[in-house]
Amino acid sequence: MSARAITVLGATGSVGSSTLDLVARGGERFTVDTLTAHRDAEGLARLVRLHRARHAVIADESCLGELKALLAGTGTSVAAGPQALCEAAERPVDLLMAAIVGVAGLAPTLAAIRTQRIVALANKETLVCAGALMMGEARRCGTALISVDSEHSALAQALGGPAFLANPDFSDVEELIITASGGPFRALPTPDLKRVTREQALAHPVWSMGAKISIDSATLMNKALELVEARHLFAVSPEQLKVLVHPQSIVHGLVRYRDGSVVAQMAQPDMRIPISQALAWPGRIETPAARLDLAALGQLTFEAPDEARFPALRLARDMLAGDGGAAAIVNAANEYAVSEFLAGRIAFPDIVDTCIATLDAMGEAGVAAPSSLEEALEIDAQARRIAAARATVLCRRSA
Ligand code: NDP
Repeated sequence: MSARAITVLGATGSVGSSTLDLVARGGERFTVDTLTAHRDAEGLARLVRLHRARHAVIADESCLGELKALLAGTGTSVAAGPQALCEAAERPVDLLMAAIVGVAGLAPTLAAIRTQRIVALANKETLVCAGALMMGEARRCGTALISVDSEHSALAQALGGPAFLANPDFSDVEELIITASGGPFRALPTPDLKRVTREQALAHPVWSMGAKISIDSATLMNKALELVEARHLFAVSPEQLKVLVHPQSIVHGLVRYRDGSVVAQMAQPDMRIPISQALAWPGRIETPAARLDLAALGQLTFEAPDEARFPALRLARDMLAGDGGAAAIVNAANEYAVSEFLAGRIAFPDIVDTCIATLDAMGEAGVAAPSSLEEALEIDAQARRIAAARATVLCRRSA
């Protein structure tokens, strides 16, 4: 494989760091073109120096001065702001990793889909809020959009890998099953969920991840987002998408075929495995991930998800129904509510309750899936306004 030029949007985050770890281990296989961050100028500058990136972008313009000073004399060009982020996403590379968190990544990810050959997608919220638009643009531009979510990477492998995805045929597929660890509160009695703290919710039992996805994993909203993601990536109906709780997070995804066979993908819970597959697409490269020793593990356990305790799974059905408008609304409400929970302003169960209340308020008017970036951002802004009002009411009620 000749050296691949890589851009990482969201380089300072958890997925960004795992990506750059593999890039560093890959030696001559990779070169780094552009790295971006939101406000962490120091972290970005360190990564730029380490990987000799050609270009660096900080989304928050007020951090530009600091970044410039930190990178003085390196020869790396520096820019700031949302427009600079989109321009960076359009710089020609062999692969772009979209690892910004939340809808903030939508504009640059769309820009990348329209210009790059391969886009690795960690930023699942973009697909949840504008999946039809993104998939349509990927098809129109001939871009390979590869999810690095461990569950979707597992499904892609169990379906037959890159060869299958190049020419997909789902006629033999009965069900696609994604697993969920169940998060830190899998066994906690429902009344106790009201009292869980930010720190408890952030402490995922298996994965080490950024704050937003850690909270999404604790509410199981992450699974709802992943079901929507799967709906866009794979041509199956909502009824064919299932969730299975599997606390050890060794089996990541399963495909049940119409003859009754089930093909599962297993690996240690290490994001560098799915990320490596995007970096080497359509091949594979070595990773430092621990090797699976099933004899040492002894047993793997599975259970049905508890929808009564985790209403996000019930909400997933509404998100999957229709053309995607409901998913865009819930995604925005969830982003708002998670940031409020992290700031200590709402209780843990209020996160999903805010999403339900926002969808109830907006869903009646029948919001259609966005067909442009502007429409997606408008739905997002409107849903956040309603979520803010609903969260205040919920808070008063529970106080
Ligand atoms: P982190 O919070 O660790 O990192 C987020 C990155 O995005 C940082 O580089 C951050 O910059 C940047 N960023 C945040 N806000 C903005 C903004 N407004 N504009 C531009 N850049 C921004 O997140 P994760 O790495 O955990 O997750 C990234 C995405 O990948 C999420 O969508 C998540 O759901 C998905 N994902 C993550 C997994 C994981 O294991 N972490 C697994 C599967 C999917 P700064 O550091 O300056 O704040």
